[in-house]
Amino acid sequence: MGVPVSQMWTVASYVLRQKLRGVQRYPLVLMLEPLFRCNLACAGCGKIQHPSSVLKRNLAAEECFQAVEECGAPMVSIPGGEPLLHPEIHEIVDGLVERKKYIYLCTNAILLEEHLDRFTPSKYLTFSVHLDGLQEEHDRAVCRDGIYEVAVCAIRKAVERGFRVTTNTTLFNDADPEMCRRFFDELMELGVEGMMVSPGYPYEKAPDQERFLHRNETLRLFGKLLDRPKRTWRFNQSPLFLEFLRGRFDLECTPWGNPTYNLFGWQKPCYLLQEGYCGSFKELMETTDWDSYGRCSGNPKCTDCMVHSGYEPSAVAQTFGSLKGFLRTAKVTVFGFGPSRAIMDEPAADLRRTSPQIDAALVQLQESLSSATDSREDASATPASEAEVELLSRS
Ligand code: SF4
Repeated sequence: MGVPVSQMWTVASYVLRQKLRGVQRYPLVLMLEPLFRCNLACAGCGKIQHPSSVLKRNLAAEECFQAVEECGAPMVSIPGGEPLLHPEIHEIVDGLVERKKYIYLCTNAILLEEHLDRFTPSKYLTFSVHLDGLQEEHDRAVCRDGIYEVAVCAIRKAVERGFRVTTNTTLFNDADPEMCRRFFDELMELGVEGMMVSPGYPYEKAPDQERFLHRNETLRLFGKLLDRPKRTWRFNQSPLFLEFLRGRFDLECTPWGNPTYNLFGWQKPCYLLQEGYCGSFKELMETTDWDSYGRCSGNPKCTDCMVHSGYEPSAVAQTFGSLKGFLRTAKVTVFGFGPSRAIMDEPAADLRRTSPQIDAALVQLQESLSSATDSREDASATPASEAEVELLSRS
């Protein structure tokens, strides 16, 4: 089973509506953290270091619904902490399904099998299971033996019972590309709908600071990992984000695309940094100094960040908001990823600020496309070749 067409349509039409209304900054996925406590203590996690008084607390279901309505994003990701430890998680999920939100419930899957009876399979609900590699790597990453097997059994059960299941994998500088490729094969054999991969963010509070990837290391790793990927692999990510990770398409962070709501309120500016909180979504959007974040800002906290929560919404916005992004997505979808060739040393460009240039380039590209079509009228519409699409998507 792949991503339902209705989900793709919901997201595409939502983005296009924002474009038509001239909205520059809009949320795509709400990161709803209903608690911070977890039943694991992974070395690379920067979310569970709160005092016990905070770890005990939960957002009430009504608070979650209010945040979802205030934000208006079509998708809601529920990370944590471990959401299955939340006493009202089933009510929260049911309420979001009623609101027709596409939910990604992120879980380490330790409790998934015993909770399955309390959820109903739905196109709106996906379990996104945390798996950082094959057995040895995953158990090491989560600092506990046996967790890989537990997660794999839970995935099998959930898939058998008709739930949508994806995986989310965070990679660090000790990731072996060959091993990862075998890991992807294994996930596909488990029957998951798609895989999500991302480099880890260097949280200041994470116990293990040695394994985080710097930007050039990320590009090299993903360049190898996604060099002519197998056709059988399915990613639950936009092609442009994967192109970005392997240095083939530049993006700038759009942190407002994945706003975060948790026990403290609306977190500034993103899921990864904690630079203050706002009482409302409107206040978050209006009072955050967005120009101080992202690679081109020069903010050292953003220099090495290539995390999906900052860049996936940028990729979606480029796919539906620029001909260049659309053509690159079409090329990858039709012809596959092809060989990796890094652009890692190019200076950062602020892609969020170039709308006049992008508009001018779009007009130029559209003219090129129509003249290319005109000149082919006698040649009975030969389909564009991979090289032509590549040329246009790079213009
Ligand atoms: S670059 Fe990363 S750390 Fe910086 S604002 Fe974007 S998502 Fe947050």
